[in-house]
Amino acid sequence: MDTRIALLPAMGIPRPYHETNPLQIVRASLDDPGPEEVLVRILAAGVCHSDLSVINGDRPRPTPLALGHEAVGEVVSVGGSSDLKPGQRVAMVFVPSCGHCPCCAEGRPALCEPGLKHNTEGTLLSGAIRIRHEGQPILHHLGISCFSDYAICHRRSLVPIDSDLDPAVQAVFGCAVLTGCGAVLNTASLRTGERVAIVGLGGVGLAGLLGAVAGGAKQIIAIDANPAKKELALSLGADHFVDARDPDAAAQVKALSQGGCDLVAEFAGVMPALELAIEVTRRGGRSVTAALPNPDDRLSLPAARLVAEEKALLGSYVGSCVPSRDIPNFIALHHRGRLPVDRMISHRLELSEINIAMERLASGEAVRQIVCFA
Ligand SMILES: [Zn+2]
Ligand SMILES: [Zn+2]
Repeated sequence: MDTRIALLPAMGIPRPYHETNPLQIVRASLDDPGPEEVLVRILAAGVCHSDLSVINGDRPRPTPLALGHEAVGEVVSVGGSSDLKPGQRVAMVFVPSCGHCPCCAEGRPALCEPGLKHNTEGTLLSGAIRIRHEGQPILHHLGISCFSDYAICHRRSLVPIDSDLDPAVQAVFGCAVLTGCGAVLNTASLRTGERVAIVGLGGVGLAGLLGAVAGGAKQIIAIDANPAKKELALSLGADHFVDARDPDAAAQVKALSQGGCDLVAEFAGVMPALELAIEVTRRGGRSVTAALPNPDDRLSLPAARLVAEEKALLGSYVGSCVPSRDIPNFIALHHRGRLPVDRMISHRLELSEINIAMERLASGEAVRQIVCFA
């Protein structure tokens, strides 16, 4: 099978990306799907900050890599027997889960150990590499590689979904919604009537904000270093916006929340943001972080306050979600009008514009951009 892919030959290419073109749209060939693997035609793929983190080297991955990890598609064919049939719409999940390891057995597929191993190596859950360009193997990005017309994925990277919704809207459920809503609703278990702050208003952070609205937060304070995010945050349900660059940002949040928030979710991926999140968490409250900072970053915090103030600090990966349960559930919430994630979509584009999209994301101009395939 012949397909276009977005090839990342190496990390660390400097900006501006629309001029330096870190991604190359090239023709590649896909092997036939092996047992438990599926050939998928991509319908729509979201451009996520984690893609940018691979391009700029903040989130190192082996290269050459075919990029993209948030998408929906349609099954074309399966290797061996499968419960998935051609034509079935599927959402793609960026951590495949083996179903057998201790974390999977505990009901925490986001922490799947073989899933992590193969994602780190750039292979499918089967260990296979199915993409070739000029005779060379090209690694898979988180088992998905969806900035492509077609992709081979392991069955355990896919969740069947209904085909009654715009694929561009469905695409954001695989990463932004699982990560953002999951952090607030699953990892931090938002309770009705709590005061919430959201730090970092990219696509994942705004999904977290929408999750806080859907989960019945009493008050939502949106915090970002870019004041251009204010209007959208307020229109999506935030009560207040605080500019993270203000020297008294923490004091502003504490004043607005009468001493601090019950739940503070951090999605910015930089240490000052996480420190601010912990600072504005009330005594007895919880901070949850779902951003992926540079692996060399270290957090400094007054440890005694964790004890004396009973503050909990939670890490959240894939929103602690069970994707086969939570993607259909979150889509159902969208159908009921309670998770209007379509409003996060700022741009729709063609695959040939992917480097322009990366530059827009890096400059903070875009929220969720969706690559649409004809
Ligand atoms: Zn993502
Ligand atoms: Zn597992």
